[in-house]
Amino acid sequence: MHGLMMNTPLLISSLIKYAAQYHRDTQVVTRTLEGPIRFTDFEKINERAKKLACGLLEFGIKSGDRIATLAWNTDRHLELYYGISGIGAICHTLNLRLSDEELIYIINHAEDKLLFYDHTLKIRVEKISPHLKSVQKFVSISKTDQLENKDSDFFNYENLLSEKITKFDWPIFNENQAASLCYTSGTTGSPKGVLYSHRTTVIHALASCLNNVLALRVDDVVLPVVPMFHVNAWGIPYSVPISGAKLVMPGDKLDGENLFELMDIEGVTIALGVPTVWLSLLDYMDKKGRKPKALERVIIGGAAVSESMIDRFEIEYGVNVHHAWGMTEMSPIGVLNSLKPKFSKLSRANKMPTKLKQGRGIYGVELLVVDDDGKELPRDGVSSGHLLVRGPWIIDKYYKEKKSALTKDGWFDTGDIATIDHDGYMNITDRSKDIIKSGGEWISSVGLENVVVGHDAVLQAAVIGVSHPKWQERPLLICVPKGSFRPSLEEMNNYLSDKVPKMWLPDAIEWVEKLPIGATGKIVKAELRKIYKNYKL
Ligand code: AMP
Repeated sequence: MHGLMMNTPLLISSLIKYAAQYHRDTQVVTRTLEGPIRFTDFEKINERAKKLACGLLEFGIKSGDRIATLAWNTDRHLELYYGISGIGAICHTLNLRLSDEELIYIINHAEDKLLFYDHTLKIRVEKISPHLKSVQKFVSISKTDQLENKDSDFFNYENLLSEKITKFDWPIFNENQAASLCYTSGTTGSPKGVLYSHRTTVIHALASCLNNVLALRVDDVVLPVVPMFHVNAWGIPYSVPISGAKLVMPGDKLDGENLFELMDIEGVTIALGVPTVWLSLLDYMDKKGRKPKALERVIIGGAAVSESMIDRFEIEYGVNVHHAWGMTEMSPIGVLNSLKPKFSKLSRANKMPTKLKQGRGIYGVELLVVDDDGKELPRDGVSSGHLLVRGPWIIDKYYKEKKSALTKDGWFDTGDIATIDHDGYMNITDRSKDIIKSGGEWISSVGLENVVVGHDAVLQAAVIGVSHPKWQERPLLICVPKGSFRPSLEEMNNYLSDKVPKMWLPDAIEWVEKLPIGATGKIVKAELRKIYKNYKL
């Protein structure tokens, strides 16, 4: 027997409609690419997104059409998120850090009809445009005071907005319709598209607001450093409007000084991003001798956060750090670390091993760790294996692929290696392809890196396995120094000796000026493995 309750579809438009009604005058603040700070609010975002929606319909865009964006975090990009998905078209965010060849492949694969871009990227767009098979028009969303001819291939956003919205209301359609598309970075093989639906996006947004997750409040001021061109900025453009928090968009200025100023002036209470962006903010905070005045929490994910980074934020500045983990295929949030009340009795040193873990599964995401044969491993915090996930905002199939991406039991294999403890705290020990297999034991490259970056002389570190005649693989440590001091291998191993198991101690250390950073802000270990392929230990 079915329940007898209303079956109203969960549509993305309902999020901005709600915000426009109940958080009408809540500000959305943008550091524009043109320079000045621009202020708008949720009511105006909703109005302009509707104008865009009408303009797209007048242009001939239909439900299911893919529309690409190549843009930074701004209010305009937010209007695109809602205006495109709101009429059943698909907002395809392009990662502007990808190479021209990757962008061309992805746009042609998605068969995007329009491409919206920030004017600073125009040269790139012009360069790749002859290779794009499906794109009919290129629309600039910034520097829109320079009106261009609507009949040319390149015109600007304000030309497209339609004034005929008096009778327009967001259309209602099936919640399982696709809403947005994001390609994975594709470290192996071609990039693959993850196609989110309205339903998955709305449920993910609701879950993100929960107290044990982002705990977004109406009096929060949220700054996503995490880009809208990578996994929908962790869903912030969808969760913030329902929470009613103020939204602050940093545009393309993501260095410590610019972030600090914006956070300070706008009273940012919570900021989200990958570890690398926080290094530059922390350095600037050190220079100023204070934190941005209202900052309470930073959410760090995308790569493992180190103990030294947590200490700098928490001990020196009183800013709470929450570690989080997820992936493109998971919309992306999977776990977030908040300590259970019982931990409050423990000393900082005793809390730290748990705080460093990626976090506990959030409601909606089931987690499982299995061995090489697919057998479930105990939740003892020690047994590490392949991390599988299942839930309503997790991928089933990649875009345009016939085969399901799941195991025969309906789980998605994340490609991460992890442990789960009896409280449910999950700890990523490695990507399965990065783990170092040494004499039948596994060495966690992430675990080792986290400790190494605690050394005063080290700014960034990466550990890779290099082949060894006896042990199969041994760890090579590659570091970027903070200053001129570069400790020897012996000095480094002395420092590490009481912090990691003896067999983890690296066999060699290399000092480099910089590490290769990929399009999603993570160290590209595949690149390092290529460089050090024939490394002799
Ligand atoms: P992406 O799909 O590009 O967001 O990458 C997802 C992958 O990033 C995950 O499968 C992990 O390997 C890695 N990742 C994300 N968050 C964390 C974290 N907090 N700690 C370690 N690795 C992470």
